[in-house]
Amino acid sequence: MSKICLCLTAKTINRNLEILDKYRKYTDLAELRVDCLDPDERLYIRRFPELAGLPVILTIRRDIDGGHFTGGEGVRVKLLANGLAYANADSRFNFAYIDIEDDFDVPSLEEAARTFGTRIIRSCHCLNGIASDIHEKIKSMQRSGDEIIKLAVSVKSTSDVIKMHKASKEITDQDKILVCMGHGGIYSRILAEKFGSFLTYSSALSESEIAGAPGQMDVRELSELYHCRKITNKTKIYGIVGYPLKASVSPWFFNTIFGLENIDAVYVPFPADSITDMLELAEQLEVQGLSITVPYKEAVLSELAKYSPVVQFVGACNTISRTDTGWYGDNTDCAGFSESLLAFLGKKNLKNKKITIIGAGGAACAVASEVHRLGGKALILNRTVHKAKTLASQYNFRWGGLPKNGGDSEGIDLISKYSDIIIQTTSAGMEGYEASDPLELYSFSGKEAVMDLIYTPAVTPFLRRAMVAGCKTINGYDMVIRQACLQYSHFTGGEIPEKLLFQINTSGANTWNKIRSG
Ligand code: NAP
Repeated sequence: MSKICLCLTAKTINRNLEILDKYRKYTDLAELRVDCLDPDERLYIRRFPELAGLPVILTIRRDIDGGHFTGGEGVRVKLLANGLAYANADSRFNFAYIDIEDDFDVPSLEEAARTFGTRIIRSCHCLNGIASDIHEKIKSMQRSGDEIIKLAVSVKSTSDVIKMHKASKEITDQDKILVCMGHGGIYSRILAEKFGSFLTYSSALSESEIAGAPGQMDVRELSELYHCRKITNKTKIYGIVGYPLKASVSPWFFNTIFGLENIDAVYVPFPADSITDMLELAEQLEVQGLSITVPYKEAVLSELAKYSPVVQFVGACNTISRTDTGWYGDNTDCAGFSESLLAFLGKKNLKNKKITIIGAGGAACAVASEVHRLGGKALILNRTVHKAKTLASQYNFRWGGLPKNGGDSEGIDLISKYSDIIIQTTSAGMEGYEASDPLELYSFSGKEAVMDLIYTPAVTPFLRRAMVAGCKTINGYDMVIRQACLQYSHFTGGEIPEKLLFQINTSGANTWNKIRSG
């Protein structure tokens, strides 16, 4: 199983030891980033392994490789030699590993490391996407079987991750470390074992003043939420695909349940810039099921072997599961939305209700179909008007553009005729997007019931205005949990026990937000 390595980037030895002590139970080894230490502190690195009390990697990362060391190579070699000097017969008092680059060529230092049992990590850093000569690089790095080969690539796209995953298969009979740096590669850090990586680097995010590397995850999150150290070849992989996919409650929800129910599975965020490439990667990693979110709910349809009648009717899919003949698609947004809305209103249907739906994307498709099924009459408003028209025409609803500053008042007049319930389904105001209000020119009377499908942040500028005006409001948290329960059944064939669900639903929003704020 892959190990978790805590990357220590504080300016002093003592601060690094303090952080290590606080997070010791979540980590198997530590990396002392000497390049982040104050120059005076670098003189005292030799005793660090003894003080740390667990295996330590000695690293002095150059600025050209994404680190902070700007001194000459002679000085760096001297510092590395100091770290290895006065080797102790008890190897626990020596650095367990030393990270040196593929172009590092000081045989005496490598010899000294080998003599005293310090394993060499031979590293290569590509900061501008995967190098075109990656295969040659890998070949040239395979010098000695006792070394660990480390490839760290700043991935620019999902296709970079695929290339990296394929290239790494060329490293056989030798330990390797694979790092897909950046937000686009975060799942490779959780799935280190599935990527064949000897270890995964992490940080104590709330403590670190200097980032170890882009995309490094919090050590506690990796260990406690994703159970990273328990992932084996048998662990089933599920996840959520979207872009940019900055914040989703789903990894917290599924991994909490997998943990409580003792299910050998992990659910990871897959920020992907192409749904086609993502599904190719999902094949390689043998992913079993995926939640689909913005902006792929419609685009994914062409990738499916089969889909449910609901998907066929609604034209959007938010859940896919692997079958022998390809991906099968379903839509749990529909049921999640209507259950949540009816519970919020205390109603059994939407008969005699006049409703405004803002947006005409994948989520709006599900909302419109449910509003129609439950007997409501609706007006659909969207920034791109023809999409509102296409969706509204399916159900004989009215449609229009979003009223904007400087625009005419027609949209506003229409809303006032469809204002029993206002449902916001656009991504405007969602974390990672501009904090805008898609209905800024409309003044709430206070009588409308208002639902915003967004739940990160918990209150968008739109929802805040509705609350201030005295409207009854709900955000999308309840809906996302309800639809996730249905996804859970799709993925595992089981149901979440009532008691557990109650616990998650009542403590959920708070616990999740607490984790997010560290
Ligand atoms: P999508 O298919 O990409 O559609 C995005 C929609 O937002 C489109 O109507 C788009 O208008 C509109 N939009 C984006 N930026 C806008 C802006 N600045 N001003 C006005 N309109 C804007 O995304 P989706 O899958 O429908 O998801 C939309 C939102 O619903 C997301 O925030 C998502 O998290 C949320 N959601 C929540 C749940 C839940 O369970 N709570 C479930 C599903 C979705 P154009 O057509 O003009 O581009």
